[in-house]
Amino acid sequence: MIFKTITKENLKTFISNVIEKNSTFAPVITSRDSENKPVYQFKEVESFEEIEIDYTKSYSSIKNFFLPFKENLSTFDFNEGSWEQNINYTVHPRVIFGVRACDINALLKLDQVFLQGKFPHPSYAARRKNTFIIGLDHEPMEDCFCRSLDTDEAVHGFDIFLTDIGSKYFMLINSSKAFNLLQNTEVEDVTEKDREHYIKEKNRLASLFQTQVEITGMANLMDLEFESDVWQKWGDKCLSCGSCAMVCPTCYCYNVCEKIDLSLRKSSKEKMLYSCNLIDFAEVAGGHNFREKSSSRLKYRYYHQHRGFVESFDESKCVGCNRCRKACPAGINPVEVIKDLRMQRQENE
Ligand code: SF4
Ligand code: SF4
Repeated sequence: MIFKTITKENLKTFISNVIEKNSTFAPVITSRDSENKPVYQFKEVESFEEIEIDYTKSYSSIKNFFLPFKENLSTFDFNEGSWEQNINYTVHPRVIFGVRACDINALLKLDQVFLQGKFPHPSYAARRKNTFIIGLDHEPMEDCFCRSLDTDEAVHGFDIFLTDIGSKYFMLINSSKAFNLLQNTEVEDVTEKDREHYIKEKNRLASLFQTQVEITGMANLMDLEFESDVWQKWGDKCLSCGSCAMVCPTCYCYNVCEKIDLSLRKSSKEKMLYSCNLIDFAEVAGGHNFREKSSSRLKYRYYHQHRGFVESFDESKCVGCNRCRKACPAGINPVEVIKDLRMQRQENE
């Protein structure tokens, strides 16, 4: 890792050059919510001026750049008596600017699932390899609890990471690609003053968190409260719409659908993101559903976050962005669910 600083003017020139030569995605306002607050999403931009550099939180995470809602895993053509399979992993290089630390940490969690082990996911790997990530620090929103999950700081998983320290940005350069891209950009060595400003700003950002969640021993809590009424209480509210999983930066469950053209000469295998909250998620051939009740589906989503993932990777899957609360039409808030579980445990002790 190399540390540099860049003035705001030079950053603007740098990003403008990046936009000119690459497909660049950044936060922009796409609509307004019921309180007339802006809704931010990552979209392709054509100029620096389009970017909402002081955005709060994007409605959806950047997960869909790596795990699209729907993708063709392969297509098949029936030619001269046999089926020919076509697979395309081509991903054009692209840049995502303005990614928050929690979303970078979410990507690192997805990396563990899709890049490690015996069978790395080829299209995820191609997308990850061809995506240049520029991170950006920000003030947490009142409902962010990433600090409780230790995901409010990114130490890797990006190419460049920027922190606003007043008249300039403190810059972490974390890849040879980043180093090359910055070749013709005016950056400066870090002075003692810059370092002081950086530490001060980091401490200020850390002090702004208003929402905390007690995460210690969550896996154990999940086991002890497996039969808890808390699941019934929150599960009864759940509409099984799956919105929480769609906006979540780490939910990756999916479904695969095989489609055959009426001509019987073409077919495709399509993968789509799915949610364990959806009614048919645990339905098997013959119509039996292992999780008929919304309470058991909701419970298993939390189990995957704080029990199953911990078992595999020694850490929670949740990064504390609280997008699921915002997206939930039933007002289900993970902070409240976890608090309820803790209270229930105390009562049971
Ligand atoms: S807070 Fe909700 S949306 Fe964010 S990572 Fe955790 S479960 Fe996913
Ligand atoms: S968004 Fe809310 S209502 Fe919809 S599935 Fe998730 S928890 Fe249930």
